[in-house]
Amino acid sequence: MIIVFKPKVNEEEVKKVVEQVETKGLTTHLVVGEGVTICGVIGDTTKVDPKQIEVLPVVEKVMHVGEPYKLANRAFHPDDSIIDVSGVKVGGDHLALIAGPCSVESKEQVIEIAKAAKAAGANLLRGGAFKPRTSPYAFQGMGSEGLDILVAAKEATGLPIVSELMSAEYIEEFNEKVDLVQIGARNMQNFDLLKEVGKRCTKPILLKRGLSSTYEEWIMSAEYIMASGNPNVILCERGVRTFETYTRNTLDLQAIPVIKRLTHLPIIIDPSHAGGKWWLVEPMAKASVAAGCDGLMIEVHNNPECALCDGPQSLKPKKYTELIEEIKDIAKIVGKEV
Ligand code: PEP
Ligand code: MN
Repeated sequence: MIIVFKPKVNEEEVKKVVEQVETKGLTTHLVVGEGVTICGVIGDTTKVDPKQIEVLPVVEKVMHVGEPYKLANRAFHPDDSIIDVSGVKVGGDHLALIAGPCSVESKEQVIEIAKAAKAAGANLLRGGAFKPRTSPYAFQGMGSEGLDILVAAKEATGLPIVSELMSAEYIEEFNEKVDLVQIGARNMQNFDLLKEVGKRCTKPILLKRGLSSTYEEWIMSAEYIMASGNPNVILCERGVRTFETYTRNTLDLQAIPVIKRLTHLPIIIDPSHAGGKWWLVEPMAKASVAAGCDGLMIEVHNNPECALCDGPQSLKPKKYTELIEEIKDIAKIVGKEV
């Protein structure tokens, strides 16, 4: 962090600011030039609020060098993190294939889809039991009963389960039943929830990118979870809001190399919620694997026409199977094992 002082500041005033910073355990390095005085601050700058220094009458501006996140930062952890989801490795050269319906609708539905997904090569089963819906009149999910159905599907197939947590109230139940806890796009900046899952979740977290969140905001949300005690975070790009209305969202493929450059966390892609159309899933999934993602989360439904949620973006099992066959070849080229 660099503090730039106003011109004509006197020594006494500079000293006061320097002392204020040093009481936080940081080291300062003062440069007094002609007409300008600046102070370099070294150490854990998360301990000072730059805005509080910037409001001081003798300070012109405060500039950040380096990122505000530490635990997620690649600079402090050069190797890729590999997250173990109940035996399924995510990150490094492992490609996670998460498939399943948007929402759990019935036991028969989930088990049929889970078996087909597993046969196609999927290694994790998704299904929403608690659904974040825009309309309060839309299907809200089956709740705990839905989680029990997922557990039954896990017993039938051996596939570990991914499901979305919306309230801290259910953390203990998720610890018991779910293998990877999803925090959805709409809750990416629910900081109280992030702190609670950091503290109390014993399972890894799949953190989706907020609808209009910058990379830094997204990584800072991962930082919340990690700083609260859970280091096992996987990021998921699921499309961002743009001016385009033809597609549900716009898939930000650049997120893959950017996240890999800035952090050591795995990043997976959800092409289903990105495009909102089933026929966009295949090309975007292929492009994502080619760009180096660590996994794909794809909505698969045995009867998309009658799905209670997100039918138009869901693949039928046959299409999913064909897609995974083709993905395997691309994965090989980029050095990922399926
Ligand atoms: C989902 O995965 O079903 C979901 C609701 O996703 P998102 O939070 O990305 O909208
Ligand atoms: Mn969905």
